[in-house]
Amino acid sequence: MHLRADRLRSGRPGTDWDAMKNACLTSSQSLPTEDVLVVGGGPAGAACALWCHQLGLRVRLLEAASAIGGLQLLSPYTNRWLPGLPGKTGQQVAASLQSHLDLAEVPYQVDYRVVSIRRQTTCGSWEVSDGVKRFASRYVVLATGSKPRGAGFVNSACVGVGPGLAMERIEVKGKRVAILGGGDNAYDQAAFALQRGAREVHIYCRRPPHALPILQERIPRESVYVGPFVANQQTMTVNAAAYDVIGVQFGFQACLPGALDLPTEHGYLQVDRGGAVAHMPGLFAAGEVTNYWHPCVATSYAQGVQVAKVIQAELTRGPATAFMRSREPMAA
Ligand SMILES: Cc1cc2nc3c(=O)[nH]c(=O)nc-3n(C[C@H](O)[C@H](O)[C@H](O)COP(=O)(O)OP(=O)(O)OC[C@H]3O[C@@H](n4cnc5c(N)ncnc54)[C@H](O)[C@@H]3O)c2cc1C
Repeated sequence: MHLRADRLRSGRPGTDWDAMKNACLTSSQSLPTEDVLVVGGGPAGAACALWCHQLGLRVRLLEAASAIGGLQLLSPYTNRWLPGLPGKTGQQVAASLQSHLDLAEVPYQVDYRVVSIRRQTTCGSWEVSDGVKRFASRYVVLATGSKPRGAGFVNSACVGVGPGLAMERIEVKGKRVAILGGGDNAYDQAAFALQRGAREVHIYCRRPPHALPILQERIPRESVYVGPFVANQQTMTVNAAAYDVIGVQFGFQACLPGALDLPTEHGYLQVDRGGAVAHMPGLFAAGEVTNYWHPCVATSYAQGVQVAKVIQAELTRGPATAFMRSREPMAA
């Protein structure tokens, strides 16, 4: 069965849609043109938009970058963790995500950075804008992901903030490299720098490292300094020792759109099991922007899919805990 958009729309239970439409038409506010606007075209947003589209909803995906794929665009490494797609690099995963949206004819727009999201109180709908062009919808899904934490450092010819391309573009052969941070990415990047011919690599972390033991084993203990340190991008020093390259691996922080007062925990958006943001009817979130456990491509896909199903269930059966009941077979 393939649910058609017009069927879904006419099937809304005793819908307040007509009332909403009339309210919008009699006010200066714009009528929702979409059922769902998905903000962010990483794995979570792309999965959500694909499912919304194939479930028969009018959806549009808005992405700030010039391509779909999110953080996977920054990864030249093989993604060994994505079941069913062995041997593909992150960048290839990103490219195949974009191809899938093209193939399925999912409406999306790149180079569109959302700068404001407002709830239109009269219409009960949402308006999203990049400062130039506006879209209106009944639902908004925030899938804006996360970005490497810079802590005052910025990418330059000799400083890389975050893993992947930020580091790989810097020549390290024969150079002294300092890696700041004690997590998986810090240890991975230290090992990669050694593989790429760095003369010396030192890891600096304030607390005992928490990287996976299998990653810690690859770096000699004497190359790891644990304790307070002062690092300076201008002088390229860490605790007064000079380095040619500094890699900043302080983890990630959620990309939250401004202007909305959103419930957060440790900087990440708080949502319920179905991805709904509390006290914001019609606002959902999926992927790394939320406080979910273990961010990766597969979990981001899963969240995007769940949110699409919750919204579809709300549109057909009305709001509230629809996701709890949702055990129906997928549309073919
Ligand atoms: C170097 C590297 C290697 C990795 N390797 C793996 C791996 O091997 N396996 C694995 O499973 N995971 C890997 N990951 C993690 C994985 O990429 C992320 O978990 C995943 O991309 C998160 O998906 P997401 O959609 O939640 O967020 P993101 O991928 O962060 O996507 C968010 C998107 O939202 C867009 N956006 C943000 N703000 C706005 C705005 N205001 N308006 C419009 N768009 C906006 C961003 O441009 C971005 O495209 C890796 C990450 C990195 C950095």
